Amino acid sequence: MSLLEVRDVEVRFRSRSRGAVRAVDGVSLTVERGQVVGLVGESGCGKSSLARAVVGLEHVSAGQVLLDGAPVAPLGWRRRTAHDVRLQMVFQNPYGSLNPRRTIGSQLRDGLRTPAGAADPAGEVRRLLDLVGLDAEAAERYPHQFSGGQRQRVVIARALAADPDVLVADEPVTALDASSQAQVVNLLVRLVDELGLGMLFISHDLALVREIADVTAVMYLGRIVEAGPTAQVWSSPQHPYTRALIDALPRISAAPTLPVSLLGEVPDAARIPVGCRFRPRCPHAMDVCRTDPPVVQLGAQWSACWLPAHGATPTTTQDTAGV
Ligand code: SF4
Ligand code: MG
Repeated sequence: MSLLEVRDVEVRFRSRSRGAVRAVDGVSLTVERGQVVGLVGESGCGKSSLARAVVGLEHVSAGQVLLDGAPVAPLGWRRRTAHDVRLQMVFQNPYGSLNPRRTIGSQLRDGLRTPAGAADPAGEVRRLLDLVGLDAEAAERYPHQFSGGQRQRVVIARALAADPDVLVADEPVTALDASSQAQVVNLLVRLVDELGLGMLFISHDLALVREIADVTAVMYLGRIVEAGPTAQVWSSPQHPYTRALIDALPRISAAPTLPVSLLGEVPDAARIPVGCRFRPRCPHAMDVCRTDPPVVQLGAQWSACWLPAHGATPTTTQDTAGV
């Protein structure tokens, strides 16, 4: 049994301008204790909808989210049970997720669910601040008195106040400057390790996910198209979309290679192509790609693509040009 299991989750909604939108369309993944699972993809691929669905902030249209085998209630934030609060979200924007009119200490005390929290709230607030690298005096101060990086530390302390087992971090450092980014990422990774948490780390930054994630899942237009141990996904991507994301990264290599950019934009989730969703942008598209691609397993790695069935692996466009 996994610590967190996301099973066939769908998030659908109707939008006045776009009609029926399938933001998340049958996503399954697991997160174990002490594990960082990185979820990557371009903006608009459904990563944030999935994150919100996992923590109960978005309606799950179908499928289930299980924590230690028990379903997490698909309810609003306020009605979350003691079981549900074991899943905590760290949002992108530390400015928006704190109350500007209340001290850090009072905001932390409000969320306390730890065993020691009831006996000694003040002591527990000090322990939480220490855990995220802030001084005890921070408890008396207000959010505006902190830098962006410090505020994100406070947000993390508040998530920890709930005594969570899983953190869902949606672009947690995107709003921060480069040096704070590294510090906050290091903090999150250390906490996962020290406290035995599981973390679903959502980011458009493939290089960052490569650094910290044990497992990488690549999302495209509402679905995971490839997943596996990070080193394996990175060294031998099986899906052309993963290949294209990696090729789009700036390279530091002796042999200059043409940067292969992704052609076009992610289609609107209200107008999903039939068959393989990546087909309109895929350099390898074939007739068969008009039908749903099979899932191909390669050890612990898997991808959903017709290419392996045809005895091929995705190449960069430069490789293709050389053939
Ligand atoms: Fe490209 Fe076809 Fe694979 Fe889709 S199934 S990624 S179109 S080769
Ligand atoms: Mg997002």
